[in-house]
Amino acid sequence: MLGASCEAQGRCAADGRSAANRKSFDGRHDAIRIIQLEIDQFLRKPGLIDNAQPAGKQLRALFRAGEHPSFGSDPSYGFQHRCIPFILNARYTIPQTTRERKGEMIKEKQTVADCMNRLYRQGLTTTSGGNISLRIPGGLILLTPSATDKGNMDADQIAVIEMDGTNHTPKLKPSIETSMHLAIYKRHSNVRAIVHAHPPTASAFVAARKPINVRLIAEAYAIVGEPVIAPYALMGSPELAASVAERIEKHTSCILMENHGVLCTGDSLLQAFDRIEVLENAAKINLYVAQLGGGVELDETQLREIDVMMGR
Ligand SMILES: [Zn+2]
Repeated sequence: MLGASCEAQGRCAADGRSAANRKSFDGRHDAIRIIQLEIDQFLRKPGLIDNAQPAGKQLRALFRAGEHPSFGSDPSYGFQHRCIPFILNARYTIPQTTRERKGEMIKEKQTVADCMNRLYRQGLTTTSGGNISLRIPGGLILLTPSATDKGNMDADQIAVIEMDGTNHTPKLKPSIETSMHLAIYKRHSNVRAIVHAHPPTASAFVAARKPINVRLIAEAYAIVGEPVIAPYALMGSPELAASVAERIEKHTSCILMENHGVLCTGDSLLQAFDRIEVLENAAKINLYVAQLGGGVELDETQLREIDVMMGR
């Protein structure tokens, strides 16, 4: 930041400006310098370091704007007012210091690990199966790794990857389904969390090519909505990643993957987990209802009522 700001000051005092222009500018130089010092104070604050580069660019742009006729008859006044949004931006765009963000990330990693432990404990996946991810600030994805005991995970076992696949935790081997998680996050900016698992009852329905009827129980229709089927493709393959990502639409939160398992998305890990759990329950209820000789579905009016309640 300091380099960028000093560069801007240097441009003010000794740049390639014409003598006439510099003369009219120098008359307001003190006022501009005071504003510059104020900006420097903001930019020296801990936590604003990450904002240094764009801040420096904005400062340079402001100085260049000073040469433009539309800048007005009083350059210092114009400059001051143009600085206001920039100063506000510099104050508020970096709400956390690096240390605070690190602390947040440890908590977020623990949430992912806890969610995987819970998934395993509830019999919704196996020791080696399933994967969970969470989108966090900074364009990063937290993801459970492969070849790790899914029933005994801790924060330091959660991989950190970028959207282009760069692994910031090279000691951890990211999940085999990394490309599937990334494809969904890239295509759907609203998705914050993904839980992929192999819950036995729901997976059995998918393998048997039998639909899971979510219209039998109001909770299932409300929480899961209508599941969408993705045709079989090899686990970990680009085909599977693309196929699952493109089947998710505005109100799709659950994908049934043929001869594989299920995947649910959510605004949070808890929501995605809840959907997996409710889906598995719905599959069990489908079985019980069939054993009892069949059930009664919610009618269209009742379903629309739930849609309205759920805001869709
Ligand atoms: Zn799987």
